Amino acid sequence: LVSREQHNDRSVVRVRGVPIGPDTVTLIAGPCAVETPEQTLAAARMAQAAGATMLRGGAFKPRTSPYAFQGLGELGLKILADVRQETGLPIVTEVVSAHDVDMVAEYADMLQIGTRNMQNFALLQAIGEAGRPVMLKRGMNATIQEWLMAAEYIAQRGNLEIVLCERGIRTFETATRNTLDVSAVPVVQELSHLPVIVDPSHSGGRRDLVLPLSRAGIVAGADGVIVDVHPQPSLALCDGAQALVHEDLAELADAVADLTVYM
Ligand code: PEP
Repeated sequence: LVSREQHNDRSVVRVRGVPIGPDTVTLIAGPCAVETPEQTLAAARMAQAAGATMLRGGAFKPRTSPYAFQGLGELGLKILADVRQETGLPIVTEVVSAHDVDMVAEYADMLQIGTRNMQNFALLQAIGEAGRPVMLKRGMNATIQEWLMAAEYIAQRGNLEIVLCERGIRTFETATRNTLDVSAVPVVQELSHLPVIVDPSHSGGRRDLVLPLSRAGIVAGADGVIVDVHPQPSLALCDGAQALVHEDLAELADAVADLTVYM
């Protein structure tokens, strides 16, 4: 269902009217985690001022350590919905359990499957029936074929509104958290009609790499970029080291605009 053999033209997925797909580079930005109403609104205003057309933010955070901040849960979703009301930005947020899909879908415009859940098949099937566009991140240990098969689980349940997100894979390199697999962008676009975006924040894990990795992804043909921003990264409860501040985000937005010539 997700193969180009089934559908030769590349698809456009629309999230509350915001297109993700060929002929555009969609900028999605927001906090890694929703922490407070003030922090989320400030991050959303930063994102919007720089030209982002969608807001990201995690209310359910799948953390490596059980002692790390796990997210605000439904309260975080309510904050996101309030910020959407204020800014008009559609929201993408992660769902980590099949039991929560309906509840998260009540608030979210797009449902995110994170790297750790790419092969949680019950979750993929539930999300395939939720009636919302999906952003499916690549498993950090997954091959491209496994990633596309994960998308197939969602599509099989009737939902073809899927955006793939390359967010880095595990390699032997320790200088970065993961290695952004830039080659995955053209490879996926040849195999599948689904849009593909890149996440330079979670792959590199470092603020200084977000701009170069975004550039690399766009030049390789990515249909969008999703980045973390935070009004005060040093106080962030999650992944502050990769969060962009205002100036960085403006520079990124300029780079996105300049690089659209490579589309
Ligand atoms: C995220 O986007 O909030 C996230 C946790 O990303 P990933 O699943 O790619 O680690």
